[in-house]
Amino acid sequence: MAVLPLQTMGGPAGRRLDRLDYLVPPGTTLAPGDVVQVPLGPRTITGVVWGPGEGDLAAGRLKPVTARRDCPPVPEALRRLVDAVAAYTVSPPAAVLRMVLPVDDALDPPRPETGLVATGAAPAGRLTPQRRAVLETLEHVTAEEGGSPPTVAALAAAAGVSDGVVRGLIDGGALVPVDRPVPRAFDLPDPDLPGPAFGPDQAAAAAALVAAVGAGFAVEVLDGVTGSGKTEVYFEAIAAALRQGRQALVLVPEIALTSQWLERFRGRFGAPPVVWHSNLGQAHRRRAWRAVAEGTAPVVVGARSALFLPFPALGVIVVDEEHDAAFKQEDGVVYHARDMAVMRGALEGVPVVLASATPALETLANVERGRYRRRRLAARHGAAVLPAVEAIDMRAERLPATRFVSEPLKDAMLAAKERGEQSMLFINRRGYAPLTLCRACGHRMRCPSCEAWLVEHRFRAGGPRLVCHHCGHEEPEPDTCPACGAEHKFAPCGPGVERLAEEVGSLMPELRVAVMTSDTIASPVEAADLIARMEAGEIDVLIGTQMMAKGYHFPRLTVVGVVDADLGLAGGDLRAAERTYQLLAQVAGRAGRAEHPGRVLLQTYDPGHPVIRALIAGDRDGFLDAEASERRAAGAPPYGRWAAVVVSAPDPGDARSTADVFARALRRTLPPGARLLGPAPAPISLLRGRHRVRLLVMADRAADLPAAMARARDLVPVRGAVRVQIDVDPQSF
Ligand code: ADP
Ligand code: ZN
Repeated sequence: MAVLPLQTMGGPAGRRLDRLDYLVPPGTTLAPGDVVQVPLGPRTITGVVWGPGEGDLAAGRLKPVTARRDCPPVPEALRRLVDAVAAYTVSPPAAVLRMVLPVDDALDPPRPETGLVATGAAPAGRLTPQRRAVLETLEHVTAEEGGSPPTVAALAAAAGVSDGVVRGLIDGGALVPVDRPVPRAFDLPDPDLPGPAFGPDQAAAAAALVAAVGAGFAVEVLDGVTGSGKTEVYFEAIAAALRQGRQALVLVPEIALTSQWLERFRGRFGAPPVVWHSNLGQAHRRRAWRAVAEGTAPVVVGARSALFLPFPALGVIVVDEEHDAAFKQEDGVVYHARDMAVMRGALEGVPVVLASATPALETLANVERGRYRRRRLAARHGAAVLPAVEAIDMRAERLPATRFVSEPLKDAMLAAKERGEQSMLFINRRGYAPLTLCRACGHRMRCPSCEAWLVEHRFRAGGPRLVCHHCGHEEPEPDTCPACGAEHKFAPCGPGVERLAEEVGSLMPELRVAVMTSDTIASPVEAADLIARMEAGEIDVLIGTQMMAKGYHFPRLTVVGVVDADLGLAGGDLRAAERTYQLLAQVAGRAGRAEHPGRVLLQTYDPGHPVIRALIAGDRDGFLDAEASERRAAGAPPYGRWAAVVVSAPDPGDARSTADVFARALRRTLPPGARLLGPAPAPISLLRGRHRVRLLVMADRAADLPAAMARARDLVPVRGAVRVQIDVDPQSF
């Protein structure tokens, strides 16, 4: 019996072993999909029965399976997905299987445990910050575990303290252990609660999606401007799946899973969906995984990793904001969740809904080829109109180098305030300034382990820091320049979100400002808080990065300013124009709702750029057509198929020599007509102390690049600290 182990295994001569053969112990029946324990050398490891034995070893030498674990089996369609994703991404199947079984202890049925509740009494002894953190976290963790009191370990982990601190609070009388019931099931969403009344476009699109549920595999592209009501429409596809007793999966870019989205779901279905992403506590993950596997979690909304959950009865997959780059996982198994969702839909025989106001060129090319069907929502819901988009030509504004908000933008913000409305300023740069220079010698502070400049963050809790946005390295700002020794002479250059907030504060002191970035908003709770204040009108200007760009609707938000609309257009990246268009259209879409029309002001030094012109003219399709013909002429994706290999090592020579060997191997395995570029330094040539060298392959769409890559990889010995990462359909070039 072949078992796919959770660990990646090295075999003789360094060859990878994907499957191991075992005997079925007498008197036991095992079926494919069963989760088992098997002996491997001195250890016992977890694996999944994958199929009949492969006969590499004489039966007499096979060891028996140790035990079957008391856990729902991995369904067949998901096993086939594991194999398909492994083949497509040129990854070990075990690495993909780990995404299916991410929580080893979820495999065992839940047992009654001891949980903690607060007594309300102050603890004996001093209330240290750590103890306070525990007491303040208790309510949140309890809620996250569905109202059941958390264990010592779960509470300690959530508060970021040791178990001892929690025990100290028990001894001190502030917490008391109680019997913890087996966590109750998740609430069931009700598909038959009334939805909103649809206009004709929404009704037609919803009817098409509802008809698709239960009718086999299909890809439905839900293409509608921001505010056209796509969410309400795909809710009807979810309702249809629920009525058929099936489960639904909604994938969202991590950042777009907002409190507002969850509220709307609850409004439509009367109960929340099960949430899945990588920042959830272990207890929640364990409970959610099991509920999905047992079929008691009817709807899951999650980030890309939710794609690998073991639904036994999937009815529909929705990918919201399908164009979003966050669906691409860049480390470990390098995969695009939208594309793999389509793969899963095909294997499960269920429809996949791709929703976006700015669909990816890949998706539109598939519509053109007749492989995907498109449903359009042409107008905003109800009386709402799309905002007017204008460019502010910054060349004419002649602002001093330390000012970033132009007069017309300032006037628009002040006018909004006078009308009792709100504005939003978007800048896609975290920190205070993108660049920090020594005033005396021009020295720039570099990250010690990346090819990247450090970015000054001024408003951190612990005081100003220099931060690497690639590896997270932080250091205090030096008192003297490390290059010339000059004292206190560092000068910020250009705007970051913090500096912008400072400027708005001094230019328009009458406005109440709030900042929304991943540095200032640490948790979904904090985000929800900020959103609630915005909804209540307690904020006049929300200033933020990408985090703020997605998914929110504020009825009183009428002015959106994009501080640096050109950012992202520079550089030769294949997708620079497409991505900038998508992002700015997304940001612009925040402006104006219902009775309040909106205004979007783009500050630009290049008002004639096709992206800016298309945004002003509202000519998305014209822009996409032009972009598509350029790609077609260049044989670039989605009309060609590209792949990348990044070889990295602490020593640049090691990375280079392995890349050379890989290039020679590829020349033997690539299909005729494919072009190989490189080895050349990768776009970030040093990352976390590793030198990175890249190969690029360009072929036509029909070429089987994964197979050619896999054969090349098998020809290349990879030694020591060298790592090879294969990226089929890379997102940036
Ligand atoms: P999109 O996802 O296309 O940007 P949403 O689905 O978020 O649009 O809808 C935008 C706003 O309009 C939301 O506040 C939503 O609740 C509201 N809305 C959408 N459709 C309807 C409808 N048929 N009736 C009432 N409100 C609607
Ligand atoms: Zn770094």
